[in-house]
Amino acid sequence: MEKTSTLPGEFELIARYFAPLAAGFPGAFGLLDDAAVIAPLPGHELVAKTDAIVGGVHFLPDDPPDLIARKALRVNLSDLAAKGAVPRAYMLDIMLPRTVTEDWIAAFARGLAQDQDAYRVHLIGGDTDSTPGPVTIAIMAFGDVATGRMLRRGGAREGDTVFVTGTIGDAALGLKVLRGKLAHLNTRAANFLVDRYRLPQPRVTLGPRLIGLASAALDVSDGLLADLRHICEVSELAAVVEAPRVPLSTAVRAALATNSERITTVLTGGDDYEILFTAPPAVLNELTELSKTLGVPITAIGRMESPPIGKKAQITVLDESGEPLAFDRSGWTHF
Ligand code: ADP
Ligand code: MG
Repeated sequence: MEKTSTLPGEFELIARYFAPLAAGFPGAFGLLDDAAVIAPLPGHELVAKTDAIVGGVHFLPDDPPDLIARKALRVNLSDLAAKGAVPRAYMLDIMLPRTVTEDWIAAFARGLAQDQDAYRVHLIGGDTDSTPGPVTIAIMAFGDVATGRMLRRGGAREGDTVFVTGTIGDAALGLKVLRGKLAHLNTRAANFLVDRYRLPQPRVTLGPRLIGLASAALDVSDGLLADLRHICEVSELAAVVEAPRVPLSTAVRAALATNSERITTVLTGGDDYEILFTAPPAVLNELTELSKTLGVPITAIGRMESPPIGKKAQITVLDESGEPLAFDRSGWTHF
């Protein structure tokens, strides 16, 4: 990064704010070498995942920097969790415009430190650059999974039940709150939804426990229906979702009470970072136990079926009277 009048140089920034985050990981060499080394635990392989977030696209420029950092890390941990992996380490590529202050970077690093403690992961390397564009952050996370056991999108079978963790639609409606819509909601409900948008809760303890139970899994980032479609496509099956069974928070119920059409946003909006998975009905009791033990809600919302002859994999959403609901959009896409 070129020197600017407001920021210390690249190496000083790394030493001051990022090297302390690498202190607990010997293979990071204090961020003083060109690269890091990381070995999987015996009998395991490393699951790797990267996700970038861009100012003005994935977060608002004046969002609190610590929350931006934590969301950037957590969206990656969510993918690892959905794959059954236990998070170990991450790398950080950060592109900073000249307008960024050192206070901003300090707060950003504090956010990372907080979540490193919460999720027991360490920073092991990265890259720091300046950019003429908005703040851009790419994180790559690594986690351990028993060799050959990573949960895939493609393992669902006909007759499997479709499950989802937590509640759906909070983040999508949280974004609406931030955009000044949903003004009729009470402050508590509005704050809950915004929190769910700004700070996902990756299901890191549950994910690894789904190995041996789930037949297919992914995390809900594009939207419930779009992500279920991903499982359908790779598993070459169709799915039926019963809309009244989709788990909703009190805040989302309040938003639906004044406008029932918001169910479209709930089912197709993104950023839930819950785990959507399929499992044979025979493991229902085990899942119920697991849900209780870990305190993570797990709800059955539908089933996997064979696709109609001549048709590609597809999703049917049924309303409370068993009638199919129509959707013009099945999730958010970038292009
Ligand atoms: P190189 O000159 O080989 O490209 P750098 O000077 O970019 O290496 O980085 C030096 C060290 O600092 C490397 O270990 C790199 O992984 C680490 N590093 C650079 N930027 C970051 C960052 N934003 N977060 C964590 N580590 C970083
Ligand atoms: Mg080098």
